[in-house]
Amino acid sequence: MLVIMRSDATPVQVNNVIALIEQMGCQTHLSQGENRALIGVIGNGDALSADRIRQMGGVEKTVPVQKPFKRASREFHPEDTIVPVGDLRIGGNKIVLMAGPCAVEGRDAFLETAQHVKTSGAHMLRGGAFKPRTSPYSFQGMGEAGLRILAEARRETGLPVVTEVMDPELVPLVTSYADVLQIGARNMQNFALLHAAGRAQRPVLLKRGMMSTIEELLMAAEYILSHGNERVILCERGIRTFEPYTRNTVDINAVPLLKQLTHLPVIVDPSHGTGKRELVTPIARASIAAGADGLIVEVHAHPETALSDGAQSLPPEQFTELVDSVGAVAAAVGRSL
Ligand code: PEP
Ligand code: MN
Repeated sequence: MLVIMRSDATPVQVNNVIALIEQMGCQTHLSQGENRALIGVIGNGDALSADRIRQMGGVEKTVPVQKPFKRASREFHPEDTIVPVGDLRIGGNKIVLMAGPCAVEGRDAFLETAQHVKTSGAHMLRGGAFKPRTSPYSFQGMGEAGLRILAEARRETGLPVVTEVMDPELVPLVTSYADVLQIGARNMQNFALLHAAGRAQRPVLLKRGMMSTIEELLMAAEYILSHGNERVILCERGIRTFEPYTRNTVDINAVPLLKQLTHLPVIVDPSHGTGKRELVTPIARASIAAGADGLIVEVHAHPETALSDGAQSLPPEQFTELVDSVGAVAAAVGRSL
């Protein structure tokens, strides 16, 4: 339920309504709009009485909210959430570009790619130190040594870093190095990990599971938000369909739909979404045209030698072209890089 306060409601009246709802056994989420306060009610407290709430001073009306995600919903929080990462603002007018190799493979190689993507205009660095690989015999990532390389690259380039965490117990370690914690597609419904990320004092990039619905993605975000960590960035990275020509199918519908359903920023990963280097730039352009707030793109200085995902990694010069061509689409839709 949503309690809509009158535009002349006083702060004391707002607080009284919050106190009553909490006495009824529910949690509240206050959203202070430009003209009026909105109080989101979370939970089904046994004593919850909309009638009683409507009789309180300053209350205009109550509106039932049927959606199972509450804190993530636009109804509870009509304004866009902007996630600050250092000096960056994710979810505002500017498109945020995150780029780097699939995995951190070594110090020199990572620093080389990091410098390239910075020169091309990337705003953040990506690179996995803990890799969720289909085969246990494939390269699993460098672990903490990889995190140290990411931190060095951040010092050298001044760009914040996003990296995946797969295990709730490793959230404190990864948090001590990363600016943004990435929860990968395979872990979107790892509820222990979602709880741990909610408790972490870091923004979270939450990727859509390859077999997950949009509602399941939003419910996963709700786990993080329920801990009071409101810095969640959603990522559409393609879902599995019957189409074998591509690794996944980017659900472009998800971008404008998510922007309607939720206030959280939405980015797209055209690398995992397609699995093919030659499709990355066209899908990056389509994503920005559809309203995405940013992109996360795999770039490798020598993709033919990459230990993972070489076929979908752009060499640096192609990333430069991507930035130019995405910039033109951004301008066409009233946004900028
Ligand atoms: C990644 O971005 O490194 C990754 C493994 O992606 P996903 O979780 O979307 O497969
Ligand atoms: Mn990858």
